[in-house]
Amino acid sequence: MLFKEIPGQEEIKKRLIQTVNDNRISHAQLLLGPAGSGKLPLALAYAQYIFCSNKTEHDSCGECSSCLKMQKIAHPDFHFVFPVFKVKEGRDTVSDDFIGEMREALIKNPFLDLDDFLENAGIENKQPSIFVGESANILRKLSFKAYEGEYRIVVIWKPEKMNVQAANKMLKIIEEPPERTVFLLVAENSDLMLATILSRTQLLKIKKIDDGSMQSALIEKYNLSELDALRITHLADGNFIEAMKLANQGDDSVENTQKFRDWMLACYKNNIPEMLGWSEKFASTDEGREKQKAFLLFCQNMFRKALMQTYSTPELGRMTENARSFFLKFSTFVNGNNIMEIAAELDSASYHIERNAYPKLLFFDLSLKLGALLRASQQVAAKSVSLPS
Ligand SMILES: [Zn+2]
Repeated sequence: MLFKEIPGQEEIKKRLIQTVNDNRISHAQLLLGPAGSGKLPLALAYAQYIFCSNKTEHDSCGECSSCLKMQKIAHPDFHFVFPVFKVKEGRDTVSDDFIGEMREALIKNPFLDLDDFLENAGIENKQPSIFVGESANILRKLSFKAYEGEYRIVVIWKPEKMNVQAANKMLKIIEEPPERTVFLLVAENSDLMLATILSRTQLLKIKKIDDGSMQSALIEKYNLSELDALRITHLADGNFIEAMKLANQGDDSVENTQKFRDWMLACYKNNIPEMLGWSEKFASTDEGREKQKAFLLFCQNMFRKALMQTYSTPELGRMTENARSFFLKFSTFVNGNNIMEIAAELDSASYHIERNAYPKLLFFDLSLKLGALLRASQQVAAKSVSLPS
């Protein structure tokens, strides 16, 4: 991973690069920032920069043998720890048990969402954790000398998921680190980490990706129009993982629009059996948590477009004729009277999906609320139209 492949974050990149050039790399650092801010890619780019034998002032060369190994996440002095789930009783599962899959996923997309990774590995419903066996594994690896580089680097992704024993053992390693070893902890929520670990790491606060950098990156990566990139940028709110999902959604948009249309009609008509049917469909296992969240995000986008239709003119470029005619009527049901509440309900549904709410009930409850909000729009709105059936 090169620094230049990460959108924005110029200040933090500069700071990381400076530590290498000044030869004062702190042995335990905590990269703390919100989801999709590029913390893990920054840690990978930093590691690559430290190892690179032909670095410039601004980035690694991307061509030396160290860089090539880092690009495959296969540098012998680089160790990567992340939460896994228990495979079987007996011994603790460790990251190395999944490192092959992880490498493949990271090479494809360094802006990886751990939940997506676990879901793809078919383990979304188990609680992932960093077990105590992991600490022993790291200690064993660090007992050898560095193979190639001057440094050994251990990235610990989501240290929040370390169980207490693992954290205590890890603390000992961080307190008395083997020589020339750098720990990079990549976390989102420091409240879930042991205070003792926090106090022994140097904190690097990472902000959301700024809108300008996000927009340019989307244009470059997905060849989007400025307007499409801007819209996704606003929806993603500094989260590049979310932005990439939205940009990729183009492929699903016809199917999603159809789903949205039929679901909204059922909600509006307060058709209980149909709403139950949809809730069951959304909740079915092949949909998965991430897909449910992506669909809710798609719904948010549809409501926003509808609101723009009411008050100005949106771009309907990606819609089929059929969808367009539904959408034009539908938009008369979305206005200043209900948009805030609708957006809040969708946000809250997404929030609860993330926290393992029971999806069938959640979608049914959401259907009832959205139906009521759509009907309520007509009580105050000037025009009175009924939804096409
Ligand atoms: Zn290099």
